[in-house]
Amino acid sequence: MDYIADLHIHSRYAAACSDKLTIENIENTAEEKGINIIGTGDFTHPKWMNELKSSLKEGSPGIYHASKGRVSFVLSSEVCTIYNPDGKGAKKVHTCMIAPSIADAENINQCLSKHGDLGIDGRPVLMMSAEELANEVKDACHEAILFPAHIWTPWFGALGAMSGFNSMEEAYGSAAKHISGYETGLSSDPPMNWRVSKLDNYSMLSNSDAHSLPKLAREATVFDLKEQSYKELADSIACNKNIRMTVEFYPEEGKYHFDGHRNCKVSLSPEQSKRYNGICPVCRRKLTIGVMHRVDELADRKEGYVPENSPSYVHAVPLIEIISQVTGKGQGTAIVTGAYSKMINKFGNEMNALINAKPEDLAAADREVGEAIKRVREERIRVIPGYDGVFGIVELFKDAEPQKANGQRTINEF
Ligand SMILES: [Zn+2]
Ligand SMILES: [Zn+2]
Repeated sequence: MDYIADLHIHSRYAAACSDKLTIENIENTAEEKGINIIGTGDFTHPKWMNELKSSLKEGSPGIYHASKGRVSFVLSSEVCTIYNPDGKGAKKVHTCMIAPSIADAENINQCLSKHGDLGIDGRPVLMMSAEELANEVKDACHEAILFPAHIWTPWFGALGAMSGFNSMEEAYGSAAKHISGYETGLSSDPPMNWRVSKLDNYSMLSNSDAHSLPKLAREATVFDLKEQSYKELADSIACNKNIRMTVEFYPEEGKYHFDGHRNCKVSLSPEQSKRYNGICPVCRRKLTIGVMHRVDELADRKEGYVPENSPSYVHAVPLIEIISQVTGKGQGTAIVTGAYSKMINKFGNEMNALINAKPEDLAAADREVGEAIKRVREERIRVIPGYDGVFGIVELFKDAEPQKANGQRTINEF
């Protein structure tokens, strides 16, 4: 049976995260979005862990439920390891983990607390290498699952431009064997990752990395599991099996798709930035090298290559964003939230509306929103690529055309 999972989110104890991220709200929103299995996020944080312990009850092994019991929780967290062995520049890597029980998560926490203060941030900073992290987590709990978060992002992705690691083996050393999968992140999608053959053996995962409730499930992974249990889920990730599809952002919408400089308003495709030798034409400093460029550097296959037996994927645009564009009103306005609720009531949840609902039913519910969803499904939209921390811009009613530099200054203007 299919279960839609979002295994990387944050709690209100993580930096820059909404204080509405409570267990009750996460459960309600996950249900509204159509998520069946959600990560708790931030199990490393002592206060959040206390809340998890008092609010969640274990159902089948490793699967927890909050008060309503309609959504399954698994223990999850993301940590940032910082390692600077030779003083030549710190290597920072974000790694996600999931654990089979609250007791196991507490064992992991005890061990990680030697490397940093877990109470400062829901995504704690640990002074250790990614290799030490993976080895110590596996020592504390053999059944834990580890995977690099948003693997290609420039500053904290294991294979990002700033990390300088070119493979899982370089990033995690002897502990690469403990890494089961990787997260595509918002700025890359399966076709981009399929170009890199050394990732073939790892499970490709998509999660929201949500910092607020509306962002939950903006990316997700659909597992086909015999039963809902931690073991089934963990085995599927560890053995790269039972993953049916992923739900993906249009990668151009992610905020590190292109190269560029946010402050200089410079956005460049990889080709363009190569012509500038990676130097910003405005401030003459090094450009932030984005995900498309970095994938291209490590790719050993042509664009369009599809590995055998790979899971499928769909590109989606969050429903609230679609409605906001259709109505021309802000995402928080009553018109937009009212129309959103209407669609959720009609189709049960957001995933159903975006992915499964029949076009005629969508049109009957709301002609313009239905048309926009259809265009998203058929990839008939235009997305101006994001760069250096600036999200891409989705234009639902403009037909797709070859990528050009983000609405800011283009190469011809320098
Ligand atoms: Zn992260
Ligand atoms: Zn610049």
